[in-house]
Amino acid sequence: MKIIPLSEGTFTIDNTKLFVPFDETRDTLKERSTGSLLVEIQPFVVITSKDILLLDTGLGFEKNGILQLHKNLTDAKINPSQVSKVLLSHLHKDHAGGVGQEREGLGTRLALPNAKYYIQRKELEFAFEKGFPSYITEELECLRNSSQVVLTDGMGDIDGYINYEVSGAHSPYHQVFLIREDSEIIFFGGDEAPQLHQMKTRFVAKYDYDGKKAMELRQKWWKQGEEEKWTFLFYHDVLNPIWNFRNS
Ligand SMILES: [Zn+2]
Repeated sequence: MKIIPLSEGTFTIDNTKLFVPFDETRDTLKERSTGSLLVEIQPFVVITSKDILLLDTGLGFEKNGILQLHKNLTDAKINPSQVSKVLLSHLHKDHAGGVGQEREGLGTRLALPNAKYYIQRKELEFAFEKGFPSYITEELECLRNSSQVVLTDGMGDIDGYINYEVSGAHSPYHQVFLIREDSEIIFFGGDEAPQLHQMKTRFVAKYDYDGKKAMELRQKWWKQGEEEKWTFLFYHDVLNPIWNFRNS
């Protein structure tokens, strides 16, 4: 399988939950408020023999009227209309900002016109209950009542080769994915496996819904990943977007 990270850049985030662009050549972390975290925002494309998959959708920022997600896909030589499945870990704004796109006079429409979008049914319900600032419901409206959206319940598989499972530690209905082809296994843990260093240390994060559970899950996945030679995709890792136990 071919993996392409679609970096949207590096940002800091603090308890205001705003993502502020961070330029390593110009900015220093000390100038940002205490407790600011440095994170990458990067959805992934995974090209399999059956699909062009997109894993989470980024912030949904636009530049000159073009969605950054579309620009990054195009730069990777992928037409947005070729994406066949969008796998969504959860709907926080930095993961689901790019699900939709404003079309003049039409409101927000799904940004990948030919893709099926997979999201846990209860995560979508929870997003609308909870709302701002973690969820931006206006941007998520296009996921409701669309024939392109497949609402998942608990655990299961998609076309026999993609497994999903509610992990529920970062947000109560967060889901993770395993993609298997030939002898390769790719793991996407969304915000429950966001960065390499968190996999290697016992770390309870304040921003998780259930921090202890997230820590325990990370340890479980890291061990299983080592045994089964998984490839990990780290959505928020500045230096290590892709980590492979085969080559490490
Ligand atoms: Zn999140």
